[in-house]
Amino acid sequence: MSVTDKAQRPLRDLRISVTDRCNFRCRYCMPAEIFGANYAFLPREEILRFGEIEMIARSLVSVGVRKLRLTGGEPLMRRDLDVLIRRLATIEGVDDVAMTTNGSLLTANAQKLAEAGLHRVTVSLDALDNAIFGKMNGVGAKADRVIEGVDAALAAGLGVKINTVVQKGINESELLPLAQFAHERNISIRYIEFMDTGNTNGWKHEQVVPSLKVLEKLQEHFSLEPVTNVAIGETAKRYHVEGHDGFEVGFISSVSKPFCRDCNRMRLSADGHLYTCLFAHSGYDIKTPLREGETHQQLVSRVSMLWRARDDRYSELRSEGMAPIAKKEMSYLGG
Ligand code: SAM
Ligand code: SF4
Ligand code: SF4
Repeated sequence: MSVTDKAQRPLRDLRISVTDRCNFRCRYCMPAEIFGANYAFLPREEILRFGEIEMIARSLVSVGVRKLRLTGGEPLMRRDLDVLIRRLATIEGVDDVAMTTNGSLLTANAQKLAEAGLHRVTVSLDALDNAIFGKMNGVGAKADRVIEGVDAALAAGLGVKINTVVQKGINESELLPLAQFAHERNISIRYIEFMDTGNTNGWKHEQVVPSLKVLEKLQEHFSLEPVTNVAIGETAKRYHVEGHDGFEVGFISSVSKPFCRDCNRMRLSADGHLYTCLFAHSGYDIKTPLREGETHQQLVSRVSMLWRARDDRYSELRSEGMAPIAKKEMSYLGG
């Protein structure tokens, strides 16, 4: 059993969930039969206001965070997101402001977000085929709409990456066309192994396609070379094609090759709880002390203590055969 060395894990990356709601019902994330009309989403008064998010972000930047990523649920369901981005992008010490989105609302918003200071978007796209994509997103949304969003983001000058969750027997036929799509646009694509996030997506090990299998398939068409300049905490194993600088293929293999040892990420849920692991069953309530009027310095002490005490390594434990545990849903925690 490996022992995680806490000293190797500086905190660098904060994922901020701005809402637990979404206009999609991807089967691997928010199955429609669970997240239906009767599902209890967070009540409005529990959701952090922009000023509160900014204060928490500032405290985390004070202890080392350099990258902020907005997520959800679907972050573009949150009204006036550009106002929040403008506030976050001007925090001293922040190098990078990014967003993960399903892309369905990007066409109308890309320009405004770029002007507010957003640097990059990761657009989730699991298939180019409208029928396969419509089935996966659970609401029949067309891939064409997301593709338009990708092109709008590129036209607005945003950095763009594609995220593709791979599910056995569901979208394997789409993996090469998606790589070709990324190649044509000279952008990166990352294939993510289907994960056992939350408690509702019916995850089974047999539904996971190991990244290595996807790599072998892509290598039949592209001469992929491993990228060697890898930053600490990078979750994807990346490959590039010589002469195509923007096009990269990455693999996030948290099932077949866990990377907890390098994990440098904290998550802030929309209702103000900090999570030190994607698979945590409970979070640390930072909203209550904030709403009770604690100062920046007091919040800094709290988050610093929380990070120092952290010893998460769920994906490694899963590989070691740990029994399933109750977890928070990814749509709540922020992907
Ligand atoms: N709604 C936005 C989106 O879909 O991009 C942001 C939130 S979503 C939870 C963030 C990322 O998590 C997406 O790229 C999504 O594909 C990924 N994701 C969700 N459930 C997953 C699962 N069970 N396994 C692997 N990736 C998952
Ligand atoms: Fe919504 Fe993103 Fe989850 Fe799909 S993966 S249901 S788009 S939050
Ligand atoms: Fe980080 Fe937890 Fe994922 Fe391991 S399982 S990489 S500790 S978020």
